[in-house]
Amino acid sequence: MSALRNEIVRSVHHWTEELFSFRTSRDKGFRFASGQFTMIGLRIDGKPLLRAYSIASAHYDDELEFLSIKVPDGKLTSRLKDLAPGDEILVGAKATGTLLLDSLTPGRNLYLLGTGTGLAPFLSLVRDPDVYERFEKVILVHGCRQVRDLAYRSKLADELPADEILGDLVRDKLVYYPTITREPFKNRGRITDLIANGTLANDVGLPPIGKQDDRFMLCGSVQMLADLRPLLEGAGLSEGSTTAPGEFVVEKAFVE
Ligand SMILES: Cc1cc2nc3c(=O)[nH]c(=O)nc-3n(C[C@H](O)[C@H](O)[C@H](O)COP(=O)(O)OP(=O)(O)OC[C@H]3O[C@@H](n4cnc5c(N)ncnc54)[C@H](O)[C@@H]3O)c2cc1C
Repeated sequence: MSALRNEIVRSVHHWTEELFSFRTSRDKGFRFASGQFTMIGLRIDGKPLLRAYSIASAHYDDELEFLSIKVPDGKLTSRLKDLAPGDEILVGAKATGTLLLDSLTPGRNLYLLGTGTGLAPFLSLVRDPDVYERFEKVILVHGCRQVRDLAYRSKLADELPADEILGDLVRDKLVYYPTITREPFKNRGRITDLIANGTLANDVGLPPIGKQDDRFMLCGSVQMLADLRPLLEGAGLSEGSTTAPGEFVVEKAFVE
C-alpha cells in the first residue's frame, strides 16, 4: 500500500490573513484516533512536499478537516493557502501522535490546552463521544494573540452545543475558554499564567489543579510546552504514553 493517497479538496474557509481550514475527501481505509496527526502536502515538480498536520475532523467524519497557518514564504503553506475545491492534495496513509486518550490515566477533568493551530487536534477530540464518557468536565482552552485569531469560535461556542447528536454531552461537560494576550477580551493572558495563578480553574469553577482529578493534553509552541511542563510536574503530574499512561500528554504544534 502506498504511503500517500490523493484526496480531493471539498471546501476551504479563510479565517484570517494567516489562518485557513479546509476539508477533503477521505479514503475509506484511512483510520485515525482523535488527536492524531498525519502528513499532508502537494506534489511540487513531481515530488511530494509534505508537512505534519493534526486532523481536526472527528474520527467518524466522512471527510478530513485541517486547520492551517499561512507562513509567509513557507515552503508548503505559501502554496497550500491557494487550495480550492476540486484540487488534489496528498494525505499520508497513516496517522500517529501522542495526544491519545489511552495515554491518560482515568480522571475527572480533561484540560485541552492549545495555542494557535494547536487547537486542531482538540477539534477532533471535542467531537469524540468517548471523551465525554471518560471525563466529567472537558475544558478546551485556546490561546491566541488577537480575538480574530480564534478560529472555530462560534462553532465551539454555539454550533457544537446545539449539535443534534453531541449537543447534550457538550452542553453538560464542555467548557470552551478562549484567551487572548494582545488586546482586550473577556479572558486575557497566557495559558501558563492562567494556570499558575489559578485564574483558569477559578473561572471554570474547578479546584486548583491536582494529580488525582486533572488530566491534560498540550499542543503549542516549544516555548509554551516548556513553560507548562514544569507547572504540571510541580503539581505532581507525570507525562503519559500508550505503554505507561500518565496525567498529561504533549505535542508540538509546529517545529521552529
Ligand atoms: C506534530 C505536528 C502537527 C502539526 N499540525 C499542524 C496543523 O494542524 N496546522 C498547521 O498549520 N501546522 C501544523 N504543523 C506545522 C506544519 O507541519 C508546517 O510547519 C506548516 O504547515 C508550515 O509549513 P511550511 O512549509 O509552509 O513552513 P515551514 O518551513 O514548515 O515552517 C516555517 C516556520 O513557520 C513557523 N510555523 C510553522 N508552522 C506553524 C504553525 N502551525 N503555527 C505558527 N508558526 C508556524 C515556524 O517558525 C517554522 O519554522 C504541525 C507540526 C507538527 C510537528
